[in-house]
Amino acid sequence: MSFLAKNYNRKKIAFKTGKGSFLISDKGQKYLDFVQGIAVNSLGHAHPKLIKALNNQSKKIWHVSNAFIIPEGERLAKKIVRKTFADYVMFQNSGAEATEAAIKVARRYFYSIGQPKKNRVLCIKNSFHGRTIAAIYASGSKKMTEGFGPKINGFDHFDFGDHKSLKRSINNNTAAVMVETIMGEGGIKVIPDWCLKDLRKLCNQKKILLILDEVQCGIGRSGDFFAFEKSKVKPDIVPIAKGIGGGFPIGAVLMNKKVASGMVAGTHGSTFGGNPLAMQVGNTVIDIISKKSFLNNVKKNSKYFINKLNEIKNEYPHVIEEVRGKGFLIGLKLRKDQSNFIKKLMDNRLLTIRAAENVVRILPPLNVKKSELNLSIKIIKKVCSEY
Ligand SMILES: *Cc1c(COP(=O)(O)O)cnc(C)c1O
Repeated sequence: MSFLAKNYNRKKIAFKTGKGSFLISDKGQKYLDFVQGIAVNSLGHAHPKLIKALNNQSKKIWHVSNAFIIPEGERLAKKIVRKTFADYVMFQNSGAEATEAAIKVARRYFYSIGQPKKNRVLCIKNSFHGRTIAAIYASGSKKMTEGFGPKINGFDHFDFGDHKSLKRSINNNTAAVMVETIMGEGGIKVIPDWCLKDLRKLCNQKKILLILDEVQCGIGRSGDFFAFEKSKVKPDIVPIAKGIGGGFPIGAVLMNKKVASGMVAGTHGSTFGGNPLAMQVGNTVIDIISKKSFLNNVKKNSKYFINKLNEIKNEYPHVIEEVRGKGFLIGLKLRKDQSNFIKKLMDNRLLTIRAAENVVRILPPLNVKKSELNLSIKIIKKVCSEY
């Protein structure tokens, strides 16, 4: 009997320990974990440096208030600013908080320059920006908003890839366009670089802001620190979360100087955001991912892996329709519903997770070993051959 609310459709399995790419179930069975908390554990389970960072900090200070200076957060913000387009960082605890705060930053900017009517945010229909009341209406998904009315006003939508409708939907009240650089829950759909460039141009022309939601695809997941990096596009606001904490809850909003000017003292706050425990873990994650060889390895290994997956697709085209994604944010789009496929992978001790459009999401830790990739390839091939 479980006394947890029934809002999740949980697999009937629990785990007692994890190490790197592997999890051990409470029955002692070993699983290759290519979910990693949904792109959260960027360095796998129980990374020694993360354990050390958390242990050390736990003996010093757990929590103070943002009423005081938090040096661990100052350090992490400085590292992020040095690495990215951002001039300022605002820490939160989760992805939904980060996307909502991103919306607040955009609205507040126009308010602060005397254009308070520019307050609507334009998003892709059936995208995913989190599960808070505002974020579900930003996502524009019927399923996520059903029963949670009244509808939160202030969001408009266009279909993925529908440039005409995107342009048509921008009006005098539009403050920003907010999209995931790679749609995660929506089925691992990559916005191509040329599209990001055009989007930036369009936002400049219309004098509106560009928000790129990198909660899932950011922090090295795509092979670059940010998925938009190669396009050379500079967004105004970027919410991040999942991968930055390596398993510890952290969210953040990154912003440029221009938009940050609206966020004066008192405009936003969070009790737990920027908590010293979280910040010390985040500092350690960033230090490791920022080593030059680290992302080179992600690029090299993910290229190898995606090639192998494409070979399987070519061998079993009646099972796999398409291999999608970038880096270690990968989707196998199946010909039909993916539930049974995911179950069979799990029976063979490989954990994966669904996304929209019959997609099986594969999210290894960024430091996955080649031997572990090969093991997963063997399992996926086996399941395809039995299909
Ligand atoms: C997961 C996710 C969120 C929401 O993050 P939570 O931590 O679950 O609130 C927002 N945006 C994107 C793109 C995500 O993948």
